[in-house]
Amino acid sequence: MFNKEELNFKKELNSLIDKFLPENWQKYPDERLDYDWELSQKIKKELAKNKWIAPSWPKKYGGLDQGISSSIILSETFAYRMSPGNDRFGVRMIGPTLLKYGSDYQKEKYLKEITNGDVQWCQGYSEPNSGSDLASISTKGEYDEENDTITINGTKVWTTLGHRADRMFILVRTLPDSSRHKGLSLILIDMKDPGIKVNPIKNISGSSSFNEVVLSNVKTSGKNVVGKLHEGWMVALDLLNFERSGIDYIGWAERCLDDVEEYCNEKKILSRDDIKINIASLRSSLESAKIMTYKALWIKTIDEKIHMEPSMSKLLATEINIKIHDFAFDILSKKVTINTSNQDEFAKRIFKNRLFFISGGILGGTTEIQKNIIAQRGLGLPK
Ligand SMILES: Cc1cc2nc3c(=O)[nH]c(=O)nc-3n(C[C@H](O)[C@H](O)[C@H](O)COP(=O)(O)OP(=O)(O)OC[C@H]3O[C@@H](n4cnc5c(N)ncnc54)[C@H](O)[C@@H]3O)c2cc1C
Repeated sequence: MFNKEELNFKKELNSLIDKFLPENWQKYPDERLDYDWELSQKIKKELAKNKWIAPSWPKKYGGLDQGISSSIILSETFAYRMSPGNDRFGVRMIGPTLLKYGSDYQKEKYLKEITNGDVQWCQGYSEPNSGSDLASISTKGEYDEENDTITINGTKVWTTLGHRADRMFILVRTLPDSSRHKGLSLILIDMKDPGIKVNPIKNISGSSSFNEVVLSNVKTSGKNVVGKLHEGWMVALDLLNFERSGIDYIGWAERCLDDVEEYCNEKKILSRDDIKINIASLRSSLESAKIMTYKALWIKTIDEKIHMEPSMSKLLATEINIKIHDFAFDILSKKVTINTSNQDEFAKRIFKNRLFFISGGILGGTTEIQKNIIAQRGLGLPK
């Protein structure tokens, strides 16, 4: 799949991760925790030294002008190692969106910050009354033509890393009285701007990686609108497509399957027919999900259209990740207790990750919404 140079890059990345990741690291990175956050910052800075944060971006914005394979290898390796330091919001979402739709000012200012490892972005799409039905958002942006400024008022919710972020890309309704997809704009704001309040929300696995963000009279310049004012809907959808073609779920799933296979081997149960058949079947589903994700990433490099492949890859990758964790959970079931302090590190990781990965079928657009997109936009089936 990858050439010699690309495989070398993977080796170098693994060596870099080895330098920073504590031995026997047994957890999914949780950048809410100070330790993981600081580790993430250190790794990002080291990646930046080699221009490896976004190697497929143009050199003038801090990349290496390499093909998409380098970005795939980067994200897949980081996920497999469960290492902090892979910038999902900057590199995967807003970066490619700015490369496609951003002004020269935006590219110059914001892309270089990302490739220097200096900023954390967050995503301001969902609202208390708008999730799957994103076109119903009500956060308002009032445009003052004379001063070329926008004043934003509203509440965003489920904002991952909102408490750590320096900047947010936010979808707002800039045409008053507009409805649905019309009159929306994608805007870049500074999280230190006066009027922004971030309230943490706790999830089922005990951490609070997401937040509610309340915006009261937050002012920003018209220069921060991505694409045309009031015409942000397609830009926002394209950004979701970049989000949905992430390879992380594949990396996490593969790591879990490799580790559980090794565990079965150690416990001398790998030769059992039920276990062999399960592992073989999960591996073949994982391979097809992986190939679909590669295709989703590649297809975005060959034309400008919004495709159904990112939705297909998100669906397959999140589903296989859950199936593999369920299998590991079954194997380890005698070791798993609700009181996680009694568990060994592997069982603890599987237990926590299984709970966390429930969110895979929700974040970035739910499983049902991906199926609707594939059926309606992709295959042209009636609503
Ligand atoms: C861990 C995590 C992190 C997140 N991070 C962010 C973030 O950083 N920024 C951000 O903006 N958002 C974030 N989100 C929010 C996420 O995008 C929304 O939760 C998601 O889009 C679903 O919206 P909702 O929660 O309002 O559910 P709803 O839209 O209310 O959906 C509820 C249920 O109804 C189903 N449903 C809704 N409409 C249809 C339909 N037309 N057809 C069939 N079924 C339908 C859904 O599939 C779902 O099962 C995050 C969510 C999670 C879980």
